[in-house]
Amino acid sequence: MPQLRVVQLPAPILTTPTEVVVDIDDNVRQFCRDLVETMYASPACVGLAANQVADPRRIFCADITGHAKADSVHGLVIMINPEIVVARAPVTMREGCMSVPDLTGNVTRASEVVIRGKTPAGATQVIEANAFEARCLLHEIDHLDGKTFLNRVRSFGADVFPRKRYR
Ligand SMILES: [Zn+2]
Repeated sequence: MPQLRVVQLPAPILTTPTEVVVDIDDNVRQFCRDLVETMYASPACVGLAANQVADPRRIFCADITGHAKADSVHGLVIMINPEIVVARAPVTMREGCMSVPDLTGNVTRASEVVIRGKTPAGATQVIEANAFEARCLLHEIDHLDGKTFLNRVRSFGADVFPRKRYR
């Protein structure tokens, strides 16, 4: 399976809302496998949205297993057509993104969420997450809505910081 190339800002697909998947077929399932493989092959990557690999479909994967700031841990999550059902208890934390490799930012996000979507098998899945996992899922859904964490910082001057590249 090929690893996919991760695109960075200012790639227009990162600021374009993705398209709902109508038929969850073998093509979608193969793409999900490639997306997961690309996530696991990327250092420090805990989630990847389809438009980060230049694909316009509303799909993301995430896996925050082993992260120091995790509480809930669902292992590998693959979500097709995800929607936020509940988002509450906002917390501000530093956040980064493979598509914004030179910056990190202070981002306020809900720390308790319920997310609903479809699995690659086409079944409905509902995931209740908190702490770092909740942040990760919301970060990926933002991507699918055409937003990066830079759209979430309060002040570009006070809440955005340079960082060393992973690669
Ligand atoms: Zn990201």
